[in-house]
Amino acid sequence: ATAYLNGEFLPLGQAKVSVLDRGFLFGDGVYEVIPVYGGYFFRLTLHLQRLEQSLEAVHLQNPLPENQWQKILQELIAYNKGLDQAVYLQVTRGTAVRNHAFPDRVEPTVFAMSNPLEPLSAELRAKGVSAVTREDIRWKCCHIKSIALLANVLLRQEAIDVGAQEAILLHEERLTEGAASNVFIVREGVLATPPKGSFLLSGVTRDLILELAKENGIPCQERVISAQELTQADEIWLTSSTREIVPVTRIDGIQVGNGTPGLLWQQMDRLYQTYKTKVRAG
Ligand code: PLP
Repeated sequence: ATAYLNGEFLPLGQAKVSVLDRGFLFGDGVYEVIPVYGGYFFRLTLHLQRLEQSLEAVHLQNPLPENQWQKILQELIAYNKGLDQAVYLQVTRGTAVRNHAFPDRVEPTVFAMSNPLEPLSAELRAKGVSAVTREDIRWKCCHIKSIALLANVLLRQEAIDVGAQEAILLHEERLTEGAASNVFIVREGVLATPPKGSFLLSGVTRDLILELAKENGIPCQERVISAQELTQADEIWLTSSTREIVPVTRIDGIQVGNGTPGLLWQQMDRLYQTYKTKVRAG
């Protein structure tokens, strides 16, 4: 695979950064993951806007104007095989003598790579996934798409260790999001997801689902959701750019609704796939 590093395209295996990179030493950087369908970027501008917001929040200047980002990312996907890809990009504060304080003069490290994007398996679409709830042990700036993901990694692994696919996080008995996803619930035909703010990442997929719900007359609320409402939901969905909308059919070992992907999930998934088809067509 071909990667991009600091102005150059090169084989991924040859892309190297210093051990003094602040991304390596401090997790001092931000990232994005952007899907590509049929060779076309999906909601690229929105991802680049969120990148801009993350950079601003950590006092990093955007190293590239938007049109340069677009050009580099287009070139990256052209180098890589496959029409469906997931592009990962990250910007760190760069390489400097280790010191918490920002270095005076430093070039950011800019990196991007692409991986094949697999559609959700038929089995998963038919059966859904299981999730577990965990206390949200992360920091108070979850709106920043930070590369420092230790808490997310530990929480996801706790889910995997008990045979589940995702950890759904609760802060003071209120739903925030998943370890690497946003969460929606359905109760009596009404869709709900927690409001934006510093407790969760404002997902690009989350926003699209809210848009599709509005356009199609599906009642939808952005509001606080209690732990109790979560466990009593008729449907639970996980949403993210690479996994789209995943139905959760077991939570903490208990069946969600009737234990199969729900009717509203089926409807929203159809709307989402139709939207993707339009992107695929160019
Ligand atoms: N929340 C977290 C913590 C994530 O890591 C992700 C993405 O992987 C999301 C939410 C979903 O965001 P998006 O839909 O923009 O991919």
